[in-house]
Amino acid sequence: MEVLEQPKVTSPYGDRTGGFHRGVDLISKVGNRNVMATAKGKIIKVINAYQDSEIINPTTDPSTQKWGGNRIWIEHEGGYQSRYHHLKYNSIRVKEGDAVEAGDVIAEEGESGYATGVHLDFEVLKNGAYIDPTAYGLGEKNFEEKNVQYVNFPPTVNNEPITSWRVYPLNQSPRYGKNFDHAIGKLNPSKFGGISYELKGYTKWNTPIIETRDFGKVHVALANLATVTNTPIYEVYQKA
Ligand SMILES: [Zn+2]
Repeated sequence: MEVLEQPKVTSPYGDRTGGFHRGVDLISKVGNRNVMATAKGKIIKVINAYQDSEIINPTTDPSTQKWGGNRIWIEHEGGYQSRYHHLKYNSIRVKEGDAVEAGDVIAEEGESGYATGVHLDFEVLKNGAYIDPTAYGLGEKNFEEKNVQYVNFPPTVNNEPITSWRVYPLNQSPRYGKNFDHAIGKLNPSKFGGISYELKGYTKWNTPIIETRDFGKVHVALANLATVTNTPIYEVYQKA
C-alpha cells in the first residue's frame, strides 16, 4: 500500500544525473509527513543517527553509508524488502525485530543524509536485487503473496447452512468431554457467504489455525453436539 498519504513522485527510479537511482523519491501531496509500512513484515534495520540539519556533500563526504540518513528496512514474505530513507531525526517509532502491518506509521519523512529537501526515498528489493519500487510506494500494487495459503469456510455444506464453526485457544483441544467444549467463540460463515482467512498452520488435532480480529490467533473446528468433525470441509487455496 502507499507509503505516504497521497504520495507524489518527485524523482523517479532509474537513470538520472549522478547515477542510477535505486529508489523513488516521494512527497505527500497533502503535507502529511507520516511514513507507512508498505506491507506487513519485520523490522530488520533502524538507524537514527543524523540531524536533519546536517548537510552532506557527496563529493567531500564520500561515506555513502551516511547518504540514506536515518532509515528503516523491513523484511516481507516472498523475498521482498522495503527501505525508507532520509527519515526525520528522532521520528522513528519502531525498533529492530518489531512486527508491522501494512499501513502502520513507522516514522516521518525528513531530510537527513544526502537530501536537498524533505522527502522519502523508498526502495524495494526482491531476493536481494533492487526492483522498481514506484507502484508499491504509490499503493498501485502489492507484493505477491504466492506462498501464502488461505482457508475458506463455506457458507453451507450439503445445502445446510453452517453456523457451528467454533474457535479454540491454540493450547486446547476442540472438545474435552461429551457435552463440554473449549470454544471461545463462533464463526458464522452462512451469514457472510463464506469467510476466508490466511492459513497460519495446523494444530496437532489437524484443525486449521487462523487469526481473527475478535479472537486473535485461534484454531477452528466444526463442532456438533458430541463430536468434532475434522473432515476438512473447509477449502485451502493460494491466491493466483
Ligand atoms: Zn532518492
